[in-house]
Amino acid sequence: MSDCLFCKIAAGEIPSDKVFEDDCVLVFRDISPQAPTHLLAIHRKHYAAVHDIPPEEVATLMGRLTAALCISLRRVGLDKSGYRLVVNSGEIAGQTVPHLHIHVLGGRELAWPPG
Ligand code: 5GP
Ligand code: ZN
Repeated sequence: MSDCLFCKIAAGEIPSDKVFEDDCVLVFRDISPQAPTHLLAIHRKHYAAVHDIPPEEVATLMGRLTAALCISLRRVGLDKSGYRLVVNSGEIAGQTVPHLHIHVLGGRELAWPPG
């Protein structure tokens, strides 16, 4: 999608601090971190939210994203200390970039419920 910030980051048109990338996915550091470690995991293919993924693509797309997360979590050491994964979907949840992304938050105490 030509006018999407995360598509531009995935294409390398906007720089990012990458933790992991392959042909399908990218994991990079959030520009405005809400925790000592704050990563964003995206698939290069543009879908705004989980419910927009065509059913026949869900397993592959989410599988690749999860595989990238596993590598990234180990890479930044959160596999040892714990972390939270968050997906904001829609205005009510505070989604500001309409390209599906998984937040990874760690490195501090994370309150529950999040509010
Ligand atoms: P959302 O609010 O949609 O769940 O999350 C969007 C996230 O993208 C926010 O945490 C915000 O800080 C991050 N973000 C916005 N613009 C940029 C950018 O240009 N680069 C990076 N690395 N993160 C960004
Ligand atoms: Zn996009």
